[in-house]
Amino acid sequence: MNSLSISLFGMNGSTIAAIATPVGSGGIGIIRISGEDALSIALNIFRRSHPLSPAAPFEPTRGAFKSCTLYHGYIVDPENRRVLDEVLLAVMIAPNSYTREDVVEIQAHCGYIVLNSILELVLKSGARLAEPGEFTKRAYINGRIDLTQAEAVIDVINAKTNKSLEIAVVQIAGDMRMCIETIRDLLLHILIEIEASIDFPDDTKEIIDTDVAIEVIQSKVIDVLKGLIDQYKNGHILRDGLKVVIAGKPNVGKSSLMNRLLQKDRVIVTSIPGTTRDLIEETLSIRGIPVNITDTAGLHETNDPIEAIGIKKTCEYINNSDLVLFMVDGSCPLTNEDYEIYKKIKDKRLILVINKSDIVVDELNFDIPDYWVKIPKIKISALYNERLDLLKDLIAKVSLSEEDFDAENTIIPNLRHKLALDRSLLSASSAVEGIKTGVPFELIAIDIKEAIDCLDEITGAALNEDVIDQIFSRFCIGK
Ligand code: GDP
Repeated sequence: MNSLSISLFGMNGSTIAAIATPVGSGGIGIIRISGEDALSIALNIFRRSHPLSPAAPFEPTRGAFKSCTLYHGYIVDPENRRVLDEVLLAVMIAPNSYTREDVVEIQAHCGYIVLNSILELVLKSGARLAEPGEFTKRAYINGRIDLTQAEAVIDVINAKTNKSLEIAVVQIAGDMRMCIETIRDLLLHILIEIEASIDFPDDTKEIIDTDVAIEVIQSKVIDVLKGLIDQYKNGHILRDGLKVVIAGKPNVGKSSLMNRLLQKDRVIVTSIPGTTRDLIEETLSIRGIPVNITDTAGLHETNDPIEAIGIKKTCEYINNSDLVLFMVDGSCPLTNEDYEIYKKIKDKRLILVINKSDIVVDELNFDIPDYWVKIPKIKISALYNERLDLLKDLIAKVSLSEEDFDAENTIIPNLRHKLALDRSLLSASSAVEGIKTGVPFELIAIDIKEAIDCLDEITGAALNEDVIDQIFSRFCIGK
């Protein structure tokens, strides 16, 4: 059991329940129950259809339930014997379940009323409503998964592209945990040697070979930590998505580009109200990257207070974006307005999108200023869908540091992991420097302990309750 079990699992013994399937009508809806009363609650409200004597109520003891078995029957309100639904009951007996507790899943017909009536009956029989993520939290607290695997469960649910799903699946398998635990074990081994040397200073030479310790920390800790941090830089966009903003003066073709991009790839549509010219934000998949794209309201100076709100919002979006598609009209000379917009976005990662190539006969109607030469650029026609595929390739290329980044079998830390890895790297590097320069072992031990603590934060072996609650609050109810 996890060391946090006692403090966090204060609800010891309480049995939780929730509807585990999304709201709405569908083929099957599932009510999940977990905890020590899960089986007795099921017995209270479930009547098994029995091939030999259909009328007989099914009254098995706990032993009569076989784990990982489906039972066909009916949910019956014991007070008035009203049949609520014909169901399948999936029984998983501890520890062979998602939470490592007794789990019963009632597979009913999926309708709002029927599922809620059954849930009410389950709650009346002694369960309490689960909080968001509480089933997965129990799986973590009961030691079935570590925190990185729990986070991966959310990522699998939220994955918007095949690549982000691949990353989550690698993490759910525990690859991240294994990698972190290997580094941790190496550091722990060195820490033990250092502490022994502190206790027995006369035997230091026999206890620890400092050259070997330096080599191990350098090649098997620092280099691996750096590799993981690089993977974050290369791959976090695949997991977290890319925020793209289209900026340019009015009429250059921003909305046309947006519509073109969304025609095939539309996934989610969200409009952000609040201004006369609303910002339109959409999510699509470009070469496997989840891309959140925003068509901006404009960046010009204005005295109109309402328009000013839209422009302020545009600036916020640009500041928070990973990439700005800076759009100009290739059929006319550049204007002051183009240069003014450039000034506002020049510190962002940019692609210069020269639109309306269909009405440019030969060369462009304008010269690109010298200081724009380094910006990746592409000529397109949003209206006639020309070179939009190349634009997508360019978006993927400038966003991922490595081309053809292979998400499969690659551990990609999330931001929380990355920040802890940074700190662990700092402490491990300080420890190596300390050993090289003859710093007292007492101080080196502190560095190594810190490096280990940071790794424990990642797997959840050492974390405060607030952080854990924050992580699980990202889940939906029933997971
Ligand atoms: P926005 O104000 O930047 O969003 O620009 P719009 O997308 O509304 O386009 C302004 C005008 O330019 C419309 O009449 C579009 O049909 C036209 N337009 C957009 N893209 C192209 C293009 O690639 N070629 C041509 N010839 N016209 C375009």
